Amino acid sequence: MEIDISVIINIFVFVGVSILGISFFPIRKLISQLASGGIRRKWKLLSGLIFLFLFGYIGYNVIYWDKFFDYLDLVISIVFFFSAVLILLVGLLTMQTAIDLNQIHTLRRDNIIDPLMGIYNRRYFDVQLSVEIKRAYRYNLPLSMLLIDIDHFKKINDAFGHYIGDLVLQNLSRLLQKNVRETDMIARYGGEEIAVIAPHTSISNAEILAQRLRLEIEKSIILPANNYENRQEIHLTISIGVSGLGEKNIDAQMLIKKTDQALYQAKQEGRNRVVIFKDKKDL
Ligand code: GH3
Ligand code: MG
Ligand code: MG
Repeated sequence: MEIDISVIINIFVFVGVSILGISFFPIRKLISQLASGGIRRKWKLLSGLIFLFLFGYIGYNVIYWDKFFDYLDLVISIVFFFSAVLILLVGLLTMQTAIDLNQIHTLRRDNIIDPLMGIYNRRYFDVQLSVEIKRAYRYNLPLSMLLIDIDHFKKINDAFGHYIGDLVLQNLSRLLQKNVRETDMIARYGGEEIAVIAPHTSISNAEILAQRLRLEIEKSIILPANNYENRQEIHLTISIGVSGLGEKNIDAQMLIKKTDQALYQAKQEGRNRVVIFKDKKDL
């Protein structure tokens, strides 16, 4: 039995059109995945061109529907069909790349940022401190470090619960972050302890920075009153240990140890104060 060529062409027309139709779905989804910028604009332009392509193809088939009579017409349908498949594949691959890039961005962020405080985590702090110390020695630049601990934070947790304690930590880290330079690195060192690396900063300038932070926290409302919770506004104070690279070559561990001793002394001397580490025996 002889199959009419127009039947085959009609089948290709419909398969081609439906593939093109399907190809729009991932392109719209893809554009929503892309961050605004050059790539997003280019994909919008491309999807406009695909629209033209689709309407051109449908128009072509409607106009020439009755005139298909030999194998040459079939070639045109096949070309359109495989073009549609190609567009679909490129769209899908780009979408997968966009999803992967978004995931990599999130993973990178999660790897270095503390989820509660929104500042760098301890792991990243340790790496950066070593890097900065090496850089400071190589270029003969000063470098200081601050270790900040909230005074009597347990009382806040005990009085208002851990949820409020967490909000306090979030607001405190935001306030501190606003008050350090962009080149300073602020990180959650431990539970409610925050560390600051201040590159290019002498110990006397680090003391000025620490006092500014301490006063800022002292005068701020860390959490406003909430009538619903029957709670007054929350204020707090912080103690800060400060230390810097001395003449003698020291590593990250030794610098942390010196700063921690200064912080300990600040607590011993009554809290809400800044203590500079004094090199007695040059640790
Ligand atoms: P001090 O003045 O001696 O520092 O007194 P403190 O009560 O602040 O004592 P310390 O620094 O040892 O207490 C840390 C407290 O911080 C204990 C712990 O329950 C609380 N804490 C640590 N991490 C978190 C956290 O992520 N959320 C909340 N809500 N509390 C935390
Ligand atoms: Mg504390
Ligand atoms: Mg502590």
